[in-house]
Amino acid sequence: MHSIVIIGTGLAGYTTARELRKLDKDTPLTLVSADDGRFYSKPMLSNAFAQGKTAEQLATQDVAQMQAQLNATILAHTRVNSIDTARHTVTCDGKTLPYSKLVLALGADPIRAPLAGDAADQVLTVNDLADYARLRKALEGAKRIVIIGAGLIGCEFANDLCTAGFSVHVVDPNPAPLNRLLPEAAGAQLRAALGRTGAEWHANTKAVSVNRAHNGYLVTLADGAALEADVVLSAIGLKPRVLLAQQAGIKINRGIVTDRYLQTSAPDVYALGDCAEVEGLVLPFVMPIMHAARALARTLAGTPAPVVYPAMPVVVKTPAYPIVVSPPPAGISGAWQVTEGEEGVRALFYDAQQHLHGFALTGKSTSEKAALTQQIPPLLG
Ligand SMILES: Cc1cc2nc3c(=O)[nH]c(=O)nc-3n(C[C@H](O)[C@H](O)[C@H](O)COP(=O)(O)OP(=O)(O)OC[C@H]3O[C@@H](n4cnc5c(N)ncnc54)[C@H](O)[C@@H]3O)c2cc1C
Repeated sequence: MHSIVIIGTGLAGYTTARELRKLDKDTPLTLVSADDGRFYSKPMLSNAFAQGKTAEQLATQDVAQMQAQLNATILAHTRVNSIDTARHTVTCDGKTLPYSKLVLALGADPIRAPLAGDAADQVLTVNDLADYARLRKALEGAKRIVIIGAGLIGCEFANDLCTAGFSVHVVDPNPAPLNRLLPEAAGAQLRAALGRTGAEWHANTKAVSVNRAHNGYLVTLADGAALEADVVLSAIGLKPRVLLAQQAGIKINRGIVTDRYLQTSAPDVYALGDCAEVEGLVLPFVMPIMHAARALARTLAGTPAPVVYPAMPVVVKTPAYPIVVSPPPAGISGAWQVTEGEEGVRALFYDAQQHLHGFALTGKSTSEKAALTQQIPPLLG
């Protein structure tokens, strides 16, 4: 019998299921999830604390509600251990589940900083609801926070936790935050704005060890500084979860490799979301998932549809200094043209032919987002 299995109940898994049900109400659908299967919006994890939101409040639907909404079976707290692409089965906790089409929506793992010290294992990361609940618990009674990494997630947490009244130190090896997304002028403004909310910066250096101290932890930096902390949060990036696919003989690179149809190297196996590398692009953001899920749903429902990615700017959730950025695609050579004024920073990335390929806007300049997005060629047209 025709049956679709989706591994993962994050935004990628659930959005694919929702989109599929708009086109096909009846094909048996099973979602398998290592976590508890509650639906939540992951981007809220990095700006929920100052609003006083608990993990329970962020979870908007439980498994029973999702099963009813999707007319699906959801196996929560169930980890898929292997995929047999020849037999078209997956095994989880000793059970074998057949599929006619399989979707890998496995997400990504936080990268662990290589830290020495007897409390290196106490460093927290936040990549799902359970992590967020752990962070909230750790923050009870805490005052001093060290955040390792000034990327998107590190900066958002820095803003949120400063707003909530914590003393926040941010450590990053680059001179300015959001180094991979922003030209340095915009990063420097963000750094100054977060500084005004109370964040202390330790730029051009790394955390090398975390040790227990008599009253919390001591974080030692490569430049010799030592920071006392009650909570240490690491946000240095994510790596796509590829192991399950790799062990099944499915082609991987940085992520699980797919073509424009989200099809992996194995017949009837598809991938999307943070685990996937679609035509060479690893894009761990919400908008690419929405576009991919809509295309994949059509394919699963019997009308193969390639994914189309327009330019997809990312709004950085740092209310102290609003930023929207559409980073230039890797491999496009060009240069930023930066203007700074009262409206904020306006940085436009042009190639040699003066074609716009990216932008970073801050402050009031963020109002130009829609107009500039239209000028950027699609990432996958
Ligand atoms: C703090 C934070 C803030 C963010 N803010 C933004 C933002 O403002 N804008 C934006 O665009 N993006 C943002 N992102 C990124 C965005 O949230 C992610 O790209 C998106 O949520 C990823 O969804 P996913 O379904 O691919 O992965 P996940 O949500 O990680 O889901 C993976 C699922 O796979 C399951 N799973 C994994 N392995 C197995 C297995 N072997 N067996 C069974 N189940 C398995 C997991 O249990 C989980 O259910 C943010 C991310 C974080 C962490």
